[in-house]
Amino acid sequence: MKTIGIIGAMREEVMPLLDFFKKYEEVKIGGNSFYTTTYKNYNIIIAYSKIGKIHAALTCSIMALHFCTDCIIFTGVAGGLSSDLKVGDIILASSLCQYDVDISAFGHPLGFIPESELYVHTDSNLNEIAKKAAMKQNIKLKYGIIASGDSFISNAQKKQWIIDKFDACAVEMEGASIAVVSSLLNIPFCIIRAISDSADDNADISFDEFLADSAKRSAAFIISMLDEMQ
Ligand code: SAH
Repeated sequence: MKTIGIIGAMREEVMPLLDFFKKYEEVKIGGNSFYTTTYKNYNIIIAYSKIGKIHAALTCSIMALHFCTDCIIFTGVAGGLSSDLKVGDIILASSLCQYDVDISAFGHPLGFIPESELYVHTDSNLNEIAKKAAMKQNIKLKYGIIASGDSFISNAQKKQWIIDKFDACAVEMEGASIAVVSSLLNIPFCIIRAISDSADDNADISFDEFLADSAKRSAAFIISMLDEMQ
């Protein structure tokens, strides 16, 4: 039986999944609760990491090494950078980068760490499943680069800087951790995010207003992906 890990950053992002599965068991490791259940012929492990790249890296490592997940799916909300993304839209990451890595003083490109990759690509099979699930529901899925860093972006200038330097469509605080950990451990992964704000000067107000709804949209989309899996 395959084991699928589903990670969110915040409680609000995984609660809709726990509400859907209803019955689950809780295992506590490393300051996180991991909720285990089954769906169809899958073992499902669900956890929220807490906000930021370090927390997400820990949760993803535990998913992979303790629960031996066969794949990892991230669900949550993000700030939209592309002008065609509005609140509630769903983005599927093509690749992830860390916009807050800067060792350019040594001549390295922004976001690049030696012996690592600037952009870490998501799994094409999982992305196909996401695209099929979207098509069936008539959801227009945005496919593009997501930039991660340890700041909530609520500033038009900083937003433009991330677009210019990384060609990203959305910004959030965990995706690149999931990407780096999963790819180094050879675990297929994908990142799904519903837009909660536009990372501009009103982002905090928009985030508070739309977090619950966008988190639910993303979680519902994850369920539709599980239904699409063979
Ligand atoms: N209101 C929360 C903090 C939210 S931080 C509190 O007080 O505890 C924002 C979270 O949503 C992060 O997990 C991040 O991944 C995502 N996110 C949504 N919009 C974002 C934006 N504009 N910039 C960065 N992260 C964003």
